[in-house]
Amino acid sequence: MSDDCLFCSIIAGDIPAEKVFEDDHVVAFRDIAPKAETHVLVVPRTHAPNVAAIAAAAPHELAAMATAAQHIADRECGGEYTWIFNTGASAGQTVFHAHGHVLGGAGLEGSLV
Ligand code: 5GP
Ligand code: ZN
Repeated sequence: MSDDCLFCSIIAGDIPAEKVFEDDHVVAFRDIAPKAETHVLVVPRTHAPNVAAIAAAAPHELAAMATAAQHIADRECGGEYTWIFNTGASAGQTVFHAHGHVLGGAGLEGSLV
């Protein structure tokens, strides 16, 4: 847990969010400003600033993020989804607690790249 981290506060339940999945390693909740029919943020319980940092600090949590992303997409969008990690401010990262955006369903047909 890091002080002044929005996602640590959501994980702790101090800030409300619509959680859709959680286990011992990850928490997933709906993005407050959805960009597609399904737009869920999958975050590791360990605070780390980006995806590479969580891979180094707690690789089992990164693996759990991938499993959770697939599980959510299976439930909500036929198992098909785009998984995005904005890394660094110039890439659009605004919250510096590692998170993957799971995007799927209406509003997101085809590849973004
Ligand atoms: P980033 O831009 O860092 O890749 O993604 C951060 C995401 O967090 C954004 O898509 C933004 O809409 C979302 N977000 C920001 N504040 C909140 C909040 O208080 N609750 C939820 N559920 N999502 C948030
Ligand atoms: Zn955090």
